[in-house]
Amino acid sequence: MTIEEGDAVLARCEGNTFEGVLMPSTTGTTVVKLKNGYNMGFKPDNVTLELIGKKSDMTGAKVALPGPNPDLPNISILSTGGTIASKVDYRTGAVTSQFTAEDILLAIPELTTIANYHARVCYSILSENMRPEYWVKLAEEVYNEIKAGADGVIITHGTDTMMYTAAAIAFMIETPVPIVFVGSQRSADRPSSDNAMNAICAAKVATSDIAEVTLVMHGTTSDDHCLIHRGTKVRKMHTSRRDAFQSINSRPLGRVEYPSGEITTYLEHARRGERELSINTNIEPRCTLVKYTPGASPEALLFASANYKGIVLEGTGLGHVSTEWIPFIERTIEAGIPVIVTSQCISGRVCDRVYDTGRDILKAGAVEGEDMLPEVALVKLMWALGQTSDIDEVWKLMTTDMAGEITRSSRTWGVYS
Ligand code: GLU
Repeated sequence: MTIEEGDAVLARCEGNTFEGVLMPSTTGTTVVKLKNGYNMGFKPDNVTLELIGKKSDMTGAKVALPGPNPDLPNISILSTGGTIASKVDYRTGAVTSQFTAEDILLAIPELTTIANYHARVCYSILSENMRPEYWVKLAEEVYNEIKAGADGVIITHGTDTMMYTAAAIAFMIETPVPIVFVGSQRSADRPSSDNAMNAICAAKVATSDIAEVTLVMHGTTSDDHCLIHRGTKVRKMHTSRRDAFQSINSRPLGRVEYPSGEITTYLEHARRGERELSINTNIEPRCTLVKYTPGASPEALLFASANYKGIVLEGTGLGHVSTEWIPFIERTIEAGIPVIVTSQCISGRVCDRVYDTGRDILKAGAVEGEDMLPEVALVKLMWALGQTSDIDEVWKLMTTDMAGEITRSSRTWGVYS
């Protein structure tokens, strides 16, 4: 029988035997995906392949899924792409989305004991390709699902920019039910994949009493618990670790034990049914984040003010830039463009009343971004400028806690995991 891409094979090379799946190759090498998820390339002359299973035999069987259980809550899963939504297509080698509800439940059958699911693919993109206008469309989809009766919404998302989208949805939607963002650092075909555990913990939070926008991901490098982070207080702090997400300037909202699914909360939170569903997606996407570095030319501000309607400054320490920048900040604000000061320290609160350079920034008309993460301040500024162009009103919105993004108590400053 001929061996085709997607078939299970034994590859023999120089006295060693490797078991895996024959992959497509564009380089002339013979590529086998090993059971540990890694691809191994062989010179075609140097390897012999033995067929151990046809692809059609391996994928042909249909597993019967249980029908909806009227005693379980109804959860909507909205997929936007990223690693959690990808699988390798052995015919083409492409990494593709596979997100019908049936696909998800076949891959993670434990989910069927937690809820009934309705799934929709909103986007199939890597999250670096997310855009503010996509947040708007996603917010509308979330709103429609909740309006149609969903008891909770799970949004699957690439991890790179998941916290921006979570913050955007938190500013755009008042929700009576949980809205949970989840992703995965390692894809489903890797033995260390975190996608099943993260999805199960996300389903637990989506069916819980935590009626807020949260982000649920591994809490440690082990498969023991996930953390529940508030969508406006979280950052991806590591490029590849499974516990990459940490709450900043706040404790995590809670944790989910795995596999028991038991939830413990650490913070006060909105409860199911407490808030009326509402949506406000007006935004001004022409806002930017400018990072100050020693010696950086203040002309960066000239460019920003010529091209954007609002600027978040990522200053040093308590929220500083060099003296040279001050007149440029003044001119920017005189031109009606708000400037919000955040800190590249990440942890802690901006306080521009301590040093001269800080006092000068305030005199120039900039506003302190409190203990907001710079990226959250950016998303919020887009939203605030979508509500009003009156600069005083923008200042008011930016210094008022709207969705848990500003913590008043200094006891909570820091990085938490
Ligand atoms: N960079 C991609 C993304 O954010 C893949 C990484 C991931 O999903 O974690 O969508």
